[in-house]
Amino acid sequence: MKLDLLVIAVHPDDAELGSAGTILSLVAQGKKVGIVDLTRGELGTRGTPEIRLQEAAAAAHILGLSARENMNFRDGFFRNDEEHQRALIAAIRKYQPEIVIANAITDRHPDHGRASALIVDACFYSGLRQIKTVDNVGADAKGEAQEAWRPKVVYHLIQDRYIKPDFIVDITDFYEKKQESLLAYKSQFYDPNSTEPMSYIASKEFMEFLRARAEEFGHVIGVKYGEGFTVDRTIGVKNIFDLI
Ligand SMILES: [Zn+2]
Repeated sequence: MKLDLLVIAVHPDDAELGSAGTILSLVAQGKKVGIVDLTRGELGTRGTPEIRLQEAAAAAHILGLSARENMNFRDGFFRNDEEHQRALIAAIRKYQPEIVIANAITDRHPDHGRASALIVDACFYSGLRQIKTVDNVGADAKGEAQEAWRPKVVYHLIQDRYIKPDFIVDITDFYEKKQESLLAYKSQFYDPNSTEPMSYIASKEFMEFLRARAEEFGHVIGVKYGEGFTVDRTIGVKNIFDLI
């Protein structure tokens, strides 16, 4: 199945934290969007890999995703090497996205920057026809030889650490639903009745920080809520009136 946008991120919930509003906005416009999670987040303080897979499925439903896959790489210990690149190339070729959104280029969590480099490299190598892969991703894999495919552009999330965005998407109409998709990760985020150990992202203050970040990004483009992204190459527009 061909997708318009594929968000590739290392931990289940990274995609929602950084881009749920953008995803919801695109799905509302009729675009096909998917998420590839690189790991099951098994090193997380709260929850279990099984619970996090269920939560990711619930969030996918709220976002209206066309596909969601988990690469089952090792949380914390995956590498940007040939083995991981080839696995990810097969996923990129399976979904043939026009645009990929990847993890933040650098962040508090070292997995984010390393995943970012892996995703950028895999997107480039995916376009090289001499690299042979077969469709072996997901339950519907047919084992067939794949065509080379390179996304037009890779954008990066802005996650925990502040990075000055290169552009901001207006997500005003979608912020509350974004929050709903985050709260689908019951084991991860603020829940006053949880008996799990407290973690950095499970505090009430973290949810408040997320809203404040979205308000700040929204403020600088003159709307209520925004999501910011960075891009390595200069982006072009056909019509300067597309800008807000
Ligand atoms: Zn993460």
